Amino acid sequence: MEQLLEVKNLEVNFRTYGGEVKAVRDVSFHINKSEILAIVGESGSGKSVTVQTIMGLLPMSVADIKNGTIHYKGQNLLELKKRELRKLKGSKISMIFQDPMTSLNPTMKIGSQIAEGLIIHQKISKRDAKEQAINMIKLVGIPNPEQRYDQYPHEFSGGMRQRVMIAIALACRPELLIADEPTTALDVTIQAQVLKLMIELKEKTDTAIILITHDLGVVAETAERVAVMYAGVIVETGTVHEIFENPKHPYTWGLMESIPDFMSTTKERLIPIEGSPPDLFAPPKGCPFAPRCKYAMDICVDQMPLDYEISSSHSAKCWLNDEQSPNADEVLALGR
Ligand code: SF4
Ligand code: MG
Repeated sequence: MEQLLEVKNLEVNFRTYGGEVKAVRDVSFHINKSEILAIVGESGSGKSVTVQTIMGLLPMSVADIKNGTIHYKGQNLLELKKRELRKLKGSKISMIFQDPMTSLNPTMKIGSQIAEGLIIHQKISKRDAKEQAINMIKLVGIPNPEQRYDQYPHEFSGGMRQRVMIAIALACRPELLIADEPTTALDVTIQAQVLKLMIELKEKTDTAIILITHDLGVVAETAERVAVMYAGVIVETGTVHEIFENPKHPYTWGLMESIPDFMSTTKERLIPIEGSPPDLFAPPKGCPFAPRCKYAMDICVDQMPLDYEISSSHSAKCWLNDEQSPNADEVLALGR
């Protein structure tokens, strides 16, 4: 499998009046060509900051990239000039956001908004751009594309606006699409339609997708691989099958318990994970999950766990995976 993007040892801090916030800590992951990778975690876990760093969208007046590399087909994005990055962003990497109303221009017809990128990045004529834009509107499943081309964002429903955003993002046939909570603002039925559309388009266009979400149901239905983030750290990563069938981190266990069983028809009770994420001004020196983890041992409080390899595609940052460690049941039985 060909690697498209590789993030290595990324560390991002924010300078605030209260001090330095460690938003992303030693994050490493990769995405292959035409693959869907989900990054999952609670809000504030560093998912958005990670992808904003990739896209060069961090507010540099307050953000500090302390360490790390982001290689896109061998090129370190963090070393690119602004102009080079802008070019790459328009043509090879694109992004869709949670709220399409704030990312669409309200004063511009949606057709022109789709065509604009094509004219700039593919250097094609206005007429060809219009034709391609209409095709994109059709492709994302909006009825009457010719009429819709000349309408403004407010004439579209929330779900249709999100489809427009996808059309804009995919118009230039990017190799990588970054979708930050793309369906969160939509109701459940529309959410399912938009996700299905993204999977279909991925299959048609071969675009790789990094899907940011806090919803494990969405992950199960769309992703091939998953990275679980907690307090700025990737605590577990694996294939969807590995993460759902054989999770190896107590935080992932908690996430699993807090989702309703989406395959069953009965409504199951949601069991949220007790406690709250650590203060990122002064994150714990050991495992970031230790303050909430019922399996925490002495070593957990003292030392950041190693990244244990469970299989060639699966790893987890939790001391329980150490050969020398008692297993989870034994830890509970010992009562720490
Ligand atoms: Fe819990 Fe320790 Fe594993 Fe962290 S390293 S998740 S505190 S058992
Ligand atoms: Mg976010």
